[in-house]
Amino acid sequence: MNCSGCLKQVDYAGYCRKCLKDLFEGKKVEHVLPFNSPYKEDSDLYQERTKKLSISGVQVKYSMRLDDNKLVLTDKGGQYILKPIPVGQFRNLDQAPANEHLTMQLAGQLFKITVPPSAIIHFSDNSPAYLVKRFDVKSDGSKYPQEDFAQIAQATEETHGKNYKYDLSYEEIGLLIKRHIATSAIELEKFFRLVLFNYIFSNGDAHVKNFSAMLTDEGDHVLTPAYDLLCTRIHSPREADMALTLFKDRFSESFDAHGFYTYDDFLEFGKVLGIKETRVVKIIEEFNGKEASIDKLVDASFLGDDIKVIYKNTYKDKMTRMSIRYNK
Ligand SMILES: [Zn+2]
Repeated sequence: MNCSGCLKQVDYAGYCRKCLKDLFEGKKVEHVLPFNSPYKEDSDLYQERTKKLSISGVQVKYSMRLDDNKLVLTDKGGQYILKPIPVGQFRNLDQAPANEHLTMQLAGQLFKITVPPSAIIHFSDNSPAYLVKRFDVKSDGSKYPQEDFAQIAQATEETHGKNYKYDLSYEEIGLLIKRHIATSAIELEKFFRLVLFNYIFSNGDAHVKNFSAMLTDEGDHVLTPAYDLLCTRIHSPREADMALTLFKDRFSESFDAHGFYTYDDFLEFGKVLGIKETRVVKIIEEFNGKEASIDKLVDASFLGDDIKVIYKNTYKDKMTRMSIRYNK
């Protein structure tokens, strides 16, 4: 059996000691909720407890808090976000919780990307949900002020039209990081790593609002931990490789020749962000040689067997692209 949090092997169902500590302050929280998914629950539970449920896109999210060692739905003081299987016309939506959970675990465990603790939790009817601890809530319940990059760029539907979330390039988000974040050298490397991760793991929906900055207790602006990472190819096979273009107004010779981004584009992108070339090369290099560890986590994940195959093939395809060096 595997831990429903970190996916490491354990000899019981549920969460390992480390995940209980990271997720639930060490309290013994069950990996099955004592109520059904919102689609199967007959009572008014969801209506009563979640007056202010937030809906973004097709994804319904619920807010939860820890009450002793039990997770309960709440409309205030939420410490966790619960995402059941979404509804909509995309493919394989029953795999969405496992997909997001796996992708977040890969980012955190293998690619040095800061992510909040996350896990799979099941409803009583056995349907899975993705559970993630909120990184914007302090232990006293107050919140870290934060803004996403659409807010920072002051881009709204009114100013930039309906497509405003997709209206900037990653290069321009990088410029905003330089302009608004004092320790931008560190944050730009974090940003670069995350954009590369999104490309390799086919997260085609990393739009402007999926990057945010927050104010720490020390008064520094930093990028928030990463969120909403998943391999969108599984749900939308024809989707573009990336939600935004790397560069503001140009494509490289390599891109024109191949029709997709390769090593040269990311090398150039890193340099455009102002990261030293040796550092860019090193960060890209860190994505190599991880195939066995990635496959192991994919195999341990909650994805169905056929989807595991697609997940592996999809990232391997991107790794092949990253091995292409047009200018050599
Ligand atoms: Zn664990």
